[in-house]
Amino acid sequence: MVARLTVLSGVGAKGPACFLVEAAGRRLLLDLGEGPDAGMRPDLSGLDRVDAILLSHGHPDHTGALDLRRRLGDPPVWATAPVLEALPVPEADRRVLPLRGITEVSGVVVETGRSGHAPGGVWLRPAVGGGLLYMGDSCPESDVYAYDPPPPAATLVLDASYGVWDDTRAACRAALDPWFDRPALVMPVPAGGRGPEIALHLLATGRPPPALDAANRAALDRLTGDGADGVRPGALSGLRRLAAVPGTATAERPVHGIVLAATADASGGLAGTLAAACADAAEPAILFTGYLGRGTPAERLVAAGRAAVLRWPVHPRLSANADLVRATAAVRVVPAFGDARHLAVWSKTFAPAAVTLDRTVDL
Ligand SMILES: [Zn+2]
Repeated sequence: MVARLTVLSGVGAKGPACFLVEAAGRRLLLDLGEGPDAGMRPDLSGLDRVDAILLSHGHPDHTGALDLRRRLGDPPVWATAPVLEALPVPEADRRVLPLRGITEVSGVVVETGRSGHAPGGVWLRPAVGGGLLYMGDSCPESDVYAYDPPPPAATLVLDASYGVWDDTRAACRAALDPWFDRPALVMPVPAGGRGPEIALHLLATGRPPPALDAANRAALDRLTGDGADGVRPGALSGLRRLAAVPGTATAERPVHGIVLAATADASGGLAGTLAAACADAAEPAILFTGYLGRGTPAERLVAAGRAAVLRWPVHPRLSANADLVRATAAVRVVPAFGDARHLAVWSKTFAPAAVTLDRTVDL
């Protein structure tokens, strides 16, 4: 099948995900995100209609511009059930993708598998042009979210969010350990991502269970209930123990021990309330573990020295991406969500596959 991939947004720099796949007269959009910095949206000018939108997972930089589907002929939105639940899409326009399986989407066969990054997160592999594997955001090393090794594909759009960074998880945790032993620590985290991962790590390393805000508590309840098929089997008993701990963190009491609270950039939720309330105090400590969006409280608090940032990895490191290129036998690699300045290292690391940052790729 003659096919083409067009990068509408998401290659060359951290930005919203949006990729167009055209094959045999069909047009599929992979993700339609906004962010991670406020106001970043894909430019859809010149695109009048698509047959379907497929979503890799529910994070805003992959789903936040779904209101633009009106300009694209209101196509149906395909995603897994946990992702669909939270979307502002009318019931009649929703289509369910399996966590693992094969689905026909507007005449194109699409395989999905769990991507290890977030609840309901999947990689997508439309059977066009020798196979196009779109990883979305992925993490083969998560202790909580299950990961299905994807099948071979001629073209691989991989998650290069971390550029050429290649530290091990053990090294990341060694850097975080002293923080976990502080008497009072606020950790702003996304509930639909690393919040439950960090909670499980604290439990697994013999520390007291952290206090959880309502968002992280609800995420744990889902992961141990309807969402259990997205969880690594070895993680379920620990997550159930965490879910059984009574109480929800609120802004009423002073912080003791570790509080895990949304939102990840402290722009809202309990993390926002706590960070604002203690911005001018010395305690509790505040630790961010993800991307610092421009103009967010997270960025301001870190710049002022009031908070720190250390990575809790939720994207693949370079070695994992090199393994993926080899395992899928890809001949063409599109590194998504990473800075173009890494092109030379990517090209050397992923050889003999050809690495491209081109806007259009014939498949
Ligand atoms: Zn994500």
